[in-house]
Amino acid sequence: MSTTPMLQINQLVKRYGGLLATDHVQLSLAPGELHAIIGPNGAGKTTLIGQLGGEVRPDSGTVFFNGEDVTALPPARRALRGLARSYQITSVFPEFSVLENVVLAMQAHCGHSFGFWKPVLRQAELVAPAERAVAQAGLAHRAYVPVADLAHGERRQLELAMVLVAQPKLLLLDEPMAGMSHQESGKVVELLQSLKGQYAMLLVEHDMDAVFALADRISVLVYGRIIASGTPEEIRANEDVRTAYLGDEALPI
Ligand code: ATP
Repeated sequence: MSTTPMLQINQLVKRYGGLLATDHVQLSLAPGELHAIIGPNGAGKTTLIGQLGGEVRPDSGTVFFNGEDVTALPPARRALRGLARSYQITSVFPEFSVLENVVLAMQAHCGHSFGFWKPVLRQAELVAPAERAVAQAGLAHRAYVPVADLAHGERRQLELAMVLVAQPKLLLLDEPMAGMSHQESGKVVELLQSLKGQYAMLLVEHDMDAVFALADRISVLVYGRIIASGTPEEIRANEDVRTAYLGDEALPI
């Protein structure tokens, strides 16, 4: 196994006025690791993931991806290197099928048109990888359904398929279970479990059952600082973590 971390974050600082949204955050991710970031509301999780995706510019500190300094790179250039963020979809065509949308996402990622005006499903070089991504996201049985007809949980799975089709090395997952029913989030846990090891994943999530079921390691962010990093068992047993969580989401005992 390679010894170069997939992701190495050094002393990352983001200030909003007098507020330190990320306060000298230090973190590394091994290839294939699923690392979860948890923390109370306003702890800086979204700001941190924004700095990794490239949408938020840090005030100081560095982000190394696969040994390369990507701190100054914009999101699209990071995505081309395999650092991909799953977004709440805005650029989806509701009347097009799941598969067509994933093909279009791949076209957008590749940056060339592949003959945009040809019906997308006739382009074999695009369809095969899109079918694979749709299956990986657990939507093979819904491939030809218009996106407008998907349930909320299925739309989040579509977001995942649209990221997977770009063949990322590291997935940045920002609250993939948000707004899901218990049953839907259980399905996403299964899905992420099946992707574990194939991709490194950084997961920001409030659903503690999901986090503790999935993560190899967990880091706890409070007021912009990482107060603890460790295995789920270590985090569960950590007194500082338990104190930080009093009155917030319950940690699974
Ligand atoms: P939640 O769990 O509620 O999503 P979070 O851990 O993701 O919270 P962030 O959204 O990163 O936390 O916010 C961290 C802090 O930075 C908060 O106090 C927030 O109000 C502040 N903040 C975030 N973005 C901005 C901004 N663009 N301008 C000013 N303050 C901001």
